[in-house]
Amino acid sequence: MGSVTRKPLIAGNWKMNLDHLQAVAFVQKLHWTLKDAAHETDSVEVAVFPPFTDIRTVQTLMDADKIPFALGAQDVSAKDSGAYTGEVSGAFLKKLDVHYVIIGHSERREYHAESDEIVAGKVQAALRHGLVPVICVGETLEQREESGPTAVSVAQLRAALEGVASDADIVVAYEPVWAIGTGQVASPEQAQEVCAALRSVVADALGDAAAERTRILYGGSVKSGNIASFMREPDVDGALVGGASLLADEFAAIIRYQKHVGV
Ligand code: PEP
Repeated sequence: MGSVTRKPLIAGNWKMNLDHLQAVAFVQKLHWTLKDAAHETDSVEVAVFPPFTDIRTVQTLMDADKIPFALGAQDVSAKDSGAYTGEVSGAFLKKLDVHYVIIGHSERREYHAESDEIVAGKVQAALRHGLVPVICVGETLEQREESGPTAVSVAQLRAALEGVASDADIVVAYEPVWAIGTGQVASPEQAQEVCAALRSVVADALGDAAAERTRILYGGSVKSGNIASFMREPDVDGALVGGASLLADEFAAIIRYQKHVGV
């Protein structure tokens, strides 16, 4: 199990799925599904990352029904305001009670050509506005074969942490590109190896205390049937879940992973 000082985080990245009406039905169903499992879920933080157009609706629902999930966004602008058509400011997200923001997801790195520099700018913007960046890193299969399992993720995280203060609140997500949406899941040992290397990067960049408190997630084809095996690893503090986070029963079963870990 991960350190007792780090509260596990199970985060659902909806990507471009569920409109605001579908989001209401989904969040209500997830909440009801988990209601009688408080003993298994109290010690786990749950976060949902809807599309921008759903955020206001989901925030209102969670506030009205006292639903204890954290709210996240899937991206943020590196700029604060101004003539940046289509961009969304961290200031606007903060006003909607958004707590987390995914930065540097491999789909944005690939389809929107987000470089390490752009990712670092977005991390700075998130922190400026009091948002917690969920910094995604991970290698393609070719990169793994060429430079080994850790080199790409280590370099991406070092670049993202450039200029970040040692007391900053951040989350790191190791998401091997070859495991995202493919059903080809990394082994727990593979996830542990990279997550441990990433914790060393946090220690180098931000200090030992930051490394001890920072949560490092695994992401890539996480399901209810494999989550427990990842959560047994000492440097894996949770999961960033894509496809399986869109199915309320399956996502609830992932959140209830402790049933299978034996804690
Ligand atoms: C993701 O996109 O962050 C992800 C991990 O997707 P999936 O769980 O579908 O592999």
